[in-house]
Amino acid sequence: MQEVTIHDKTFEVLIAANDIQQRVAQIAADINENYAEKKPLFLGVLNGAFLFAADLFKNISVPCEISFIRVSSYQGTQSSGKVKSLIGLNMDINNRHIIVIEDIVDTGDTMQYLLAELAQKNPASVKLATMVFKPEALKHPLQPDFIGFTVPPDFLVGYGLDYDGLGRNLNDIFILKNNA
Ligand code: 5GP
Ligand code: MG
Repeated sequence: MQEVTIHDKTFEVLIAANDIQQRVAQIAADINENYAEKKPLFLGVLNGAFLFAADLFKNISVPCEISFIRVSSYQGTQSSGKVKSLIGLNMDINNRHIIVIEDIVDTGDTMQYLLAELAQKNPASVKLATMVFKPEALKHPLQPDFIGFTVPPDFLVGYGLDYDGLGRNLNDIFILKNNA
């Protein structure tokens, strides 16, 4: 499928499913090599990262655990803007080697907040794996440790990413078509 229309917009393939799977396997191999004795705890960030988390996890061969969290964002009553909260972290991460699994790092607001929250809980280490990285949109001094693909700052759907609820089930990653 080269093009797809969701709601009112048309998207074209940016990264094909095969390339995604190959890249995920490479990242997993890297993790397997470096986490042999560390029993890493993967924290998948819902909703968008669920497919990446599942595919990555299937390729991990060292002893490991996985859990899922959510970063919710709501408008605060103050003019200071959006207030974030971390939901669903029901494991003790003290002294654990954490690998956060995220779908996209865009402005970096979400990860900036999440990584600071996790750091307060005294983990042994925290690394960030993101399927997609948009460095041109980044507003924080953040460097993901494992990056699937570096992309332009345009709107993407597929492989877990939605456009207004739809498109998460697409196996390729699509980008908004110019003038669409
Ligand atoms: P950030 O906090 O880095 O600006 O944004 C992170 C979140 O915004 C991602 O986890 C994702 O949910 C959403 N996001 C950012 N860029 C895109 C995009 O191109 N497509 C979709 N579907 N979501 C995006
Ligand atoms: Mg996300």
